[in-house]
Amino acid sequence: MSKPEKLLDKKGLRLDGRKLDELRPIKMEVGILANADGSAYLEQGRNKVLAAVYGPKEVHPKHLALPDRAILRCRYHMAPFSVEERKSPAPSRREIELSKVIRDALEPAVFLEYYPRTSIDIFIEILQADGGTRCAGITTAALALADAGIPMRDLVVACAAGKADGKLILDLMDLEDKYGEADVPLAMMPGINAVTLLQMDGSLTLEEFEKAIEMAMEGCRKIYEVQKEALKAKYVTVKEETEE
Ligand code: UDP
Repeated sequence: MSKPEKLLDKKGLRLDGRKLDELRPIKMEVGILANADGSAYLEQGRNKVLAAVYGPKEVHPKHLALPDRAILRCRYHMAPFSVEERKSPAPSRREIELSKVIRDALEPAVFLEYYPRTSIDIFIEILQADGGTRCAGITTAALALADAGIPMRDLVVACAAGKADGKLILDLMDLEDKYGEADVPLAMMPGINAVTLLQMDGSLTLEEFEKAIEMAMEGCRKIYEVQKEALKAKYVTVKEETEE
């Protein structure tokens, strides 16, 4: 997509009609893959993300096993058709880095010490990307972990705030990410108010940075409610099925 003249219109609305502090429409579903231990699917604006979890299971190769806890592994991958210009299916440096960043954002939530000598593997597939896919990947993977029945301190949820045309904005889409002034992705466990990921691209004043963090946390708290509803929805379905 070519560079737009402006990211905000005269009324201060964004290119997709959103207000500055408005999230993209978001929906989630849990337990959609029959052959994974846990899974989830998320749509956030034009982002489409699938996450699958396997484990806790025996570690291969065996020498990676830890005597006192499970290891958490994560692969973030973009499908070749997920972006405008076909992406090579081979893992790029960016995907390797994001896999680590996402793993680190999820790890504090998981009681790894409950499962020594095992591994928990997370696979995140970006089916369609429109900015903020690391955050969408974290939100989806946390749901898939919960769906796999893995004990967690809290769900992890992520959202970015940033700056475009001089104004702070919430939940950046690709054009805002590319042509805006800053992007601040943040992940947290809202139930225990703990931040597990904070990055920044671009530049902000200290005051703007603090405001952006507050906006991103507020976005996270809203997405957290949708996450919890998605988990509950699965168990309502299970209950109905068992009562039939
Ligand atoms: N993107 C792309 N091709 C690529 C990688 C990224 O078009 O090979 C786009 C995609 O829409 C992505 C956005 O650039 O969501 C922003 O990427 P970034 O690295 O900032 O990560 P994200 O914001 O998705 O977490």
